[in-house]
Amino acid sequence: MPGPDIAAQLDAAERLCTKNGTQLTTLRRVVLDLVLRSTAPLTAYQLLDQLKSTRKSAVPPTIYRALDFLIENHLVHRIERLNAFIPCDADHEHADAQFLICHQCGTVTELEDHGVSDALAAAAAARGFTPSRAMVELDGLCATCAPPDTAPPPAHR
Ligand SMILES: [Zn+2]
Ligand SMILES: [Zn+2]
Repeated sequence: MPGPDIAAQLDAAERLCTKNGTQLTTLRRVVLDLVLRSTAPLTAYQLLDQLKSTRKSAVPPTIYRALDFLIENHLVHRIERLNAFIPCDADHEHADAQFLICHQCGTVTELEDHGVSDALAAAAAARGFTPSRAMVELDGLCATCAPPDTAPPPAHR
């Protein structure tokens, strides 16, 4: 059974899909549930393995189609560097995001910093470039993994 938090997130996802004029089918909901439950980014094949425990007939296109839908509706993000998927941590309406990827523990933190997005958009526009999406992935060490003496001082505190 999903925890109360995951159940609430699934219900919110369902409402968002209805608002978008799409439908969170049972399969899409099951895949989203798997992504939400995971403590680490999951690859499509890890998701497929988990899905097979309840749906023996699941094949790679099953999972890829469900993931494509979830990505289109901003419920899930694909982390290109890891070729893995994480649940969207923000309001599901953003086009841009930044991801902080810890190469030691593997956690991925989603940022939605409009200052970064605006700076990128302005820099691109200055070169006559029109970005359709700006997903930025930063590789490094999270606060837990970084040695204390190399961690930058916390900003705005
Ligand atoms: Zn997001
Ligand atoms: Zn870490």
